[in-house]
Amino acid sequence: MPLNRRVNRLLALIALVVVSVFIVRKINHSGTQQVSQQQQQEESLRPTDPKHPGSSPPSPNPLLQEVGEPDGVLTHVGDTDRPRANATLLSLVRNSELRGIVRTMQDVERTFNSKFNYPWTFFNDEPFTEEFKRRTQAMTKAPCRYELIPKEHWETPPWINKDIVAVSGQILVEDDIMYAKQQSYHKMCRWNSGMFYKHPALKDVRWYWRIEPNTRYYCSIDYDVFRYMEDNDKTYGYVINIYDAPQSIRTLWPTTMEFVAQHPEYVNPNNALQWLTDSEIRPDHNTIANGYSTCHFWSNFEIGDMNFFRSDAYDMYFEYLDHAGGFFYERWGDAPVHSIGLGLFLDKSKIHWFKDIGYLHMPYYNCPASKKCSGCQAGRFTDAGYLNRENCIDNFFKYVHSD
Ligand code: GDP
Ligand code: MN
Repeated sequence: MPLNRRVNRLLALIALVVVSVFIVRKINHSGTQQVSQQQQQEESLRPTDPKHPGSSPPSPNPLLQEVGEPDGVLTHVGDTDRPRANATLLSLVRNSELRGIVRTMQDVERTFNSKFNYPWTFFNDEPFTEEFKRRTQAMTKAPCRYELIPKEHWETPPWINKDIVAVSGQILVEDDIMYAKQQSYHKMCRWNSGMFYKHPALKDVRWYWRIEPNTRYYCSIDYDVFRYMEDNDKTYGYVINIYDAPQSIRTLWPTTMEFVAQHPEYVNPNNALQWLTDSEIRPDHNTIANGYSTCHFWSNFEIGDMNFFRSDAYDMYFEYLDHAGGFFYERWGDAPVHSIGLGLFLDKSKIHWFKDIGYLHMPYYNCPASKKCSGCQAGRFTDAGYLNRENCIDNFFKYVHSD
């Protein structure tokens, strides 16, 4: 290529990068400017009579006291007169993760599902191989379904600008955000945020338990967790409550506040806003995330009611976020998106901590003190000491509930 053409191309490239960086910075900056308006908006959402004022001290670790089954109506193995819930074990997984999912299925079947026989539904953006189907079905007596994700649920939507993705990806790299430029990761987060419950295979299903390859389950579960949710008026169950990397979600909270300003009617009077907006425990997180504590339910485990996600409130919220572009221009995760949706639009008494379920998704555990558990040390949150500060459960106790 002649030198002057090369120089011209180089100049054009530099101009593109400069313009894109400007646009992205402007998006981020306008997020910051919205904060005071946002604060007013948040003030008007606060429950008038918070049960747990923000000044209470952190709780002692409840996992160190003997942990039993939850209170409330329980259906045990052998209570054959009680019907099963309309539920599935749900796993988004790649063919290449076959070993990891088989290992996790072994745990889930041993601790729970061999007693209750809920069907498994596997999802993939590519067809599952025959080997995948054969080896996973061999792990359970329950039926397994293998579902392909429609392209329009998975692929980057047409309103996303690829040049901005390229430049903003570079900013995420500079911020040390994992998977910054891995487009499949961004697609996965978007699918888990707002698409899974729209898959035709789940049309008639209400409850799901999300299961990820290579996660571990350590404790025997002798009651039907789905019936527990239904019979005790719960909507969402989690095991781990954790901080996010604030640089991955700089404009998620300002964008959420825009949606809430348009739809104040969706905000539940008994919301968990204080948990979402705490700025005392890790103030820097709140600052970088423009008003969000970044605390969230770690969604690689969740037991939930898809009717919540299908509600106008949540689904319109997802659509609003999707058009704002942050699944691709930033790295909005399904965990903070679910958590903010739940924290704002759901009555917080419908959120349940399954503290009796022993769990590991590297590098974090939920490990209860119980004779039903083996293989995880009671109370341990992580093997890497410096990561203990990522635990957000104290913030949840402070504002939401402590049982
Ligand atoms: P991390 O836990 O945030 O590090 O993300 P993972 O790599 O564990 O991905 C989350 C879940 O999505 C896991 O169940 C993966 O198997 C699944 N997953 C991630 N990317 C893809 C993908 O491109 N295709 C499919 N089919 N599954 C994916
Ligand atoms: Mn994972």
